[in-house]
Amino acid sequence: MIIAIASGKGGTGKTTVATNLALSLGNAQYIDCDVEEPNGYIFLNPKIREIKTVYLPTPKVDQDKCSYCGACAEFCQFNALAVIKDKVLIFPELCHGCGGCVLACPDSAITEENRAIGVVEKGNSSNLAFVQGKLNVGEPMATPIVAATKDEIDSERTAIVDVPPGTDCPVIEGLRGSDFSILVTEPTPFGLYDLRLAVDLVRLLNIPFGVVINRSGPNDVLIEKYCEEESIPVLLKIPYQRDIAVLYSKGIPLIKADPKWKDCFSGLFRSIEEEINETAHRN
Ligand code: SF4
Ligand code: SF4
Repeated sequence: MIIAIASGKGGTGKTTVATNLALSLGNAQYIDCDVEEPNGYIFLNPKIREIKTVYLPTPKVDQDKCSYCGACAEFCQFNALAVIKDKVLIFPELCHGCGGCVLACPDSAITEENRAIGVVEKGNSSNLAFVQGKLNVGEPMATPIVAATKDEIDSERTAIVDVPPGTDCPVIEGLRGSDFSILVTEPTPFGLYDLRLAVDLVRLLNIPFGVVINRSGPNDVLIEKYCEEESIPVLLKIPYQRDIAVLYSKGIPLIKADPKWKDCFSGLFRSIEEEINETAHRN
């Protein structure tokens, strides 16, 4: 089973939910796809045993074969190529590695070379398998790292995928193929706005989902009213309390500090199983 933990914006408590849920399951996998700023390791303290470099194929032009016809630049939707009088300029950071310019070139002047854009690190934290993707600083192309990180999912074990925040391409890649998604939000107008965007996305992707309210308090009604109107289950609330903030600042998972949280996150997993079963019956 793959459970994706997502949120419409950063800083809502996505990693808190992902790490605690993974720890509550024991023999599971924690997959950190928040590749621009992975921080699950702070709470899980894994031993890294393997590092794989992730490459993106990028065009290389043989100037001797090139006739400067401009077909490659015309083809590229991302403006990663420009042809001037007697030169082809390549902007590697804009290249998506689609290979289209290689096919578009009438003179077979373009080949591809691999460019390292990040790494995938594998290890473990006790009996929890740990995988994290890390995008190199300054690289804009997060999606291939997210895909490479998810390639490490072991289908024999439950995977908890920490998806990047937002609703753009890396998020879609992080959510793709999930059996269920938890949308983490907070009871503020910004939280509600971004939750709506995230709900639209998971509905578009046809992934069953529920909501966890972090920093829960008197304003929960804001989120609860929306969820009731939209028939979205609220699966768990994590209160806005100083002791929780202190644990977070020290990198201590909730379930390691207080056994009651193990029950809460085990209950969250059971609720997810029920939601998945209900969705299967409805379909
Ligand atoms: S399509 Fe090929 S021949 Fe034409 S400008 Fe690009 S590299 Fe040169
Ligand atoms: S590989 Fe694709 S994205 Fe990259 S330069 Fe060629 S056409 Fe553009």
